[in-house]
This record gives sequence, structure tokens and C-alpha cells, in this order.
Amino acid sequence: MSKLTVAKFGGTSVADHQAMLRCASIIKNDPSNRLVVVSASAGVTNLLVRLTQSKVALPEQAEIIEAIRKIQFNITQHLNCKDELNHSINNLLDELTTYAQVQSTSACSRIADAILSFGEQMSSRIFAQVLQSIGVDGHYFDVRNVMKTNSLYGKAVVNTVELHQNCQQQLAPLLTKQVIVTQGFIGQDEDQYTTTLGRGGSDYSAALLAEALDADDLAIWTDVVGIFTTDPRITDQARSIKEISFGEAAEMATFGAKILHPATLIPAMRHNIPVFVGSSKEPDKGGTKIQQKVDSAPTYRSIALRREQTLVTVKSPAMLHASGFLAKVFNVLAKHELSVDLITTSEISVAMTFDNPTGSTQALLNSTVVQELEQLCEVTVEHGLSLVAVIGNKMQKTNGVGSRIFDTIDGINVRMICHGASEHNLCFLVDEHQANQTVEKLHSALFA
Ligand code: ADP
Ligand code: ASP
Ligand code: MG
Repeated sequence: MSKLTVAKFGGTSVADHQAMLRCASIIKNDPSNRLVVVSASAGVTNLLVRLTQSKVALPEQAEIIEAIRKIQFNITQHLNCKDELNHSINNLLDELTTYAQVQSTSACSRIADAILSFGEQMSSRIFAQVLQSIGVDGHYFDVRNVMKTNSLYGKAVVNTVELHQNCQQQLAPLLTKQVIVTQGFIGQDEDQYTTTLGRGGSDYSAALLAEALDADDLAIWTDVVGIFTTDPRITDQARSIKEISFGEAAEMATFGAKILHPATLIPAMRHNIPVFVGSSKEPDKGGTKIQQKVDSAPTYRSIALRREQTLVTVKSPAMLHASGFLAKVFNVLAKHELSVDLITTSEISVAMTFDNPTGSTQALLNSTVVQELEQLCEVTVEHGLSLVAVIGNKMQKTNGVGSRIFDTIDGINVRMICHGASEHNLCFLVDEHQANQTVEKLHSALFA
């Protein structure tokens, strides 16, 4: 069979008609692009998130839904088939209205996921028509037919065995005849309820589909010309990296480089599928190739930043020469499904960090969990911290890495340091308000 590339377009790439047309040209210019995975148009998922909250008054619901309709109709008005398409968008928005009303009176995570799925449901229908408008035989496919998950709403886990079987049976035959446009981010559980894979999850969906279809490569089209030495929004000194290994890029994604959802590279690595990251605005400018083997393995590759970290320090003299104390602490955390990110220990205290993307972790750590931990030890919880990760190669075996990094940021209060567990990173916590400054200083010292 001819080459298969899975192409994923993020929110800004499908934000408006011009943006969608640029993406459609990318598909048209390379016939190997046969499966297209789209995110919701920029801004739509954030609007939907507002509808997932409880007690949203009816006028506000209507206002949000109108704002979504406007974003989508601004695109469809440029298409010949706009009446038919607007009709199907309106049907979806009617369905959304019903869900929003239910959610506002009795909020639950199952309905929240149903609500969140509408952005991708709409953008994929529209993008298939944009492809048609430039002469590409693009067809809509509902990913929920193949992307089967468990019922952990908001962060559903995909059944990769079922996904593989379903893709081979349902999608592979279609891909020999036409270009298929489907949704990132969403799936379906055993009870046929819609699920979502977590914010930013479309990258991960695309990688899972690439794996299930034995694709030759995966292209992630976004708003920047590849993966940079750090987030280009933090410093204009950041520059695009031509080639990077799976290990380094996975580490970047894990440590907060928003360019890729943290799980994206897991399927790609499992199946050795090279990943390209480029800008749909400037496709000719190239981008970053992520693959197993790369020519260079520099000590310093990039700097990632993850904001909103919570640091919990537990302290007890009972820890001294005693066994079992940490097990008790981790039992409490496991009971509340809290996952610890980084950990450092001293004789009588342990410091742990928690990622806090949604705020629910913060709520838990402020109340129930602290009370339970306080039965065992003294507990301190601190918010407002950022995790800086310097990513590279053989960092734990290279002399002078620590001094170079910490001399550079002399004067900035470093709260916790983790080094040595991974050969690919050295990371530490700083106060949120010093985070950008820390990254800028390090970037100019390590990459100038
Ligand atoms: P999409 O909607 O296409 O998925 P995202 O907004 O999720 O796009 O990710 C792209 C953004 O990631 C960029 O605009 C950039 O600000 C941010 N980013 C963070 N770290 C990096 C990095 N190391 N290289 C490039 N972009 C980065
Ligand atoms: N639309 C979803 C979000 O905004 C998924 C994605 O864009 O990857 O989180
Ligand atoms: Mg993204």
C-alpha cells in the first residue's frame, strides 16, 4: 500500500476559513496525508469548558453557545455547501444546549465530557467540506467508532487493542479510497458515552491512530515552526530544533512544553513512527523531526516550564531509621488518586510536587488529604510554584552541569532540585513570579 501519513491540525490551524484552507493545501500537496485528525477551532473548547460548570445561568449558556456558533459560521459562510453544513452544526448546537441545561442543574463528569466533545465534532465536519472545496475527496469519520476507552471521564484511557482492531477493520479500507477527517481528543466508553482524553489530547489521539494504522509517519501541524529550545512565548531567543530524539522530546512534553501533549510520543515510540512538528501557517519553513536516532545528542537541548505546581513537604521524627513511613504517606495519596511528580527526601522529611492543571488537585491537597496526612506527620502545602526542566543528554554523567545551571540563576530562590534519576533532565522549582526570568537567564547562558 502507498505511504500513510497521519496529519493532525491544532486549534489555531483550524481557527478560521483562511487557516483551514492552508491546512487543506498541506493535505492536497502530499497524497500520503490520508488521515486528518483535527482539534476544535481555537477558543471553542475553552467556551465549552464554561458550559461544563454547574449553575451556569440560562442567558450565559445561550451567550456561550452563540459565541461558538459565530466561530463556526464564520468559516462555513465561505463554503458552497454552507446551508447543509450550518444545518448539521445547528443540530449539534441544539444537542449541546440540552446537555448544557442538564449540566447546569446537576453537574456530572459524564455530561461534561459530552459537552467538551462538540468542538471537535464541528471542526471535523467543517474541515471535510473545506477539503472538498479545493477538490480533495475528504470525508468525515466519527472517531468514537474506533477510539474505545474506559469511563474515566476527563482523562479516559484508550483500549489500544480494540483501537487497532477497529482501525484495521473500519478505517484502513476507507483510507485506500479517500481522505478521512476525524476528531482528536474524544472517544467512547463501553456504555456508548462520549469520553475525552484530557486537554490538548488531540496530539495523543493522532499518535494512537497512527500506531493503530501502522502509519509511516505522523505530522503535527501547529502555530510554531517546530519544537523550540524553549517556549518562544517566553523568549524571542528561542530557536527551532531540526532533529530531536523520542526520549528528549518526550521529556520536554512531560515537563510542560505545551507543543505536544505529554502522552503523544508513547505510541510513536512503541511503533517507531517518526513525528514531524511544523507550522500550518508556514509549511515551507520546515520544522522538527522527532525520531529514534538523531545525529547529535547535546548536553543541553531545551528548557521546559510547567506552571501551577504544588509542593507538599511532610516531616516526622518517626521517619528517622524507621521503615514503612513513606508507604503510609503514599497510601493516603493513592487512595485519593493523586500522582506525585517529583520527590526528594532528607532524614526526617520528604518533599513532593503535584501538577495542578485543573485546580482539583489543589482543592484536595488543601483539605482532605492534608487532614489525613496530618494524622501521620507535620504537613506543609505551598502553591504558586513553577517547575523548570533543563533537558538534554547524559546530564547525570557530565561534569559541571549543576554548577553551570545554578551559577546562571544565582539570586533566584530554588525550592527543590531533582537530578540523576533521568539522564535527560535536571529540574527544579522556583516561585511562579520568577519563572520566566529563570528560563530567560538559562536560555541565554545555555543556547546563546
Ligand atoms: P495546538 O493548538 O496546535 O495543539 P498548542 O497551543 O497546544 O497548539 O501548542 C503550541 C504552543 O506551544 C506554541 O504556540 C508555543 O507557545 C507552545 N510551546 C511551549 N513550549 C514550546 C517549545 N519548546 N517549542 C515550541 N512551542 C512551544
Ligand atoms: N480541543 C481540545 C483542547 O482544547 C483538544 C486539543 O486541542 O488537543 O484541549
Ligand atoms: Mg496542543
